[in-house]
Amino acid sequence: MHTVQLANQTLPAIGQGTWRMGERPSEHQTEVNALRLGIDLGMTLIDTAEMYGEGGAEQVVGDALQGIRDQAYLVSKLYPHNASRHGTIEACERSLRRLRTDTIDLYLLHWRGQHPLEETVDAFERLREQGKIRRWGVSNFDLDDMHELNNRACATNQVLYSLEQRGVEFDLLPWCQQQAMPLMAYCPVGQGGRLLQDVTLRQIAERRDVTPAQVALAWLVQQGGVIAIPKAVTPAHVRANAAALELNLDAADLRLLDGVFPPPTRKSPLAMV
Ligand code: NDP
Repeated sequence: MHTVQLANQTLPAIGQGTWRMGERPSEHQTEVNALRLGIDLGMTLIDTAEMYGEGGAEQVVGDALQGIRDQAYLVSKLYPHNASRHGTIEACERSLRRLRTDTIDLYLLHWRGQHPLEETVDAFERLREQGKIRRWGVSNFDLDDMHELNNRACATNQVLYSLEQRGVEFDLLPWCQQQAMPLMAYCPVGQGGRLLQDVTLRQIAERRDVTPAQVALAWLVQQGGVIAIPKAVTPAHVRANAAALELNLDAADLRLLDGVFPPPTRKSPLAMV
């Protein structure tokens, strides 16, 4: 199974995203069931945010984790406009209530906003002392933001990264690898869109008797120190994503993929959705 080391913890290299969950009450139980199935299959890392469904996704996660909280590694994210010294603490407490837990394993600043980073970091450290979070990190930070943050306690950076969005490989990913800081890859299957229709991806998948999404996920986690967080509600998608934890692409597959999705040759601004 592909795994990643985060501080002293070994995590599955494929977890579960939750964006677009918690928006429709009629889908609530289906979403809860999908997350529980994923946890049963080894995708124990769950990524959510106060933004998703304006708290709705955290409620779905809270329900999914009832009775099995200790089996999961829980990641949530804070809106930048809440990231002041006091606002961070209050936002975290609201998230904890919705998640129905007393601690978040990893708490991230969703993207950079107006509040000084030192204030947010101070608040993160206070939350750690109080046991309300175990670790903290950031999201959508480019390399210059990481330098400005300049804090070795930062546990991860969650960014857009997939076969069709390889910009981070130019400098951010190598830097994270050098720091032994896992990079979390969001939109890893290109939101289920055009990426999965690519002819080469489909050919590799067919030859290996897997799906294009599984190839896309295996490719990501084979980069080293990368945790992919696909979101899936459809049970067949959940099963496929979990099975990708065991899929290994060979050098010939990787060469073919480099041919159609070439690695970056120069710096470009960090892509975001
Ligand atoms: P994804 O790349 O995970 O794509 C999700 C879509 O792909 C859904 O429509 C899903 O369908 C489909 N899908 C999932 N697995 C498969 C599969 N095996 N085969 C075919 N289709 C599949 O996009 P997201 O935008 O959801 O990104 C993943 C997660 O990253 C988010 O949910 C969120 O947690 C996080 N994120 C973080 C951001 C940030 O700024 N920090 C920004 C964006 C996302 P279905 O649901 O029907 O199964």
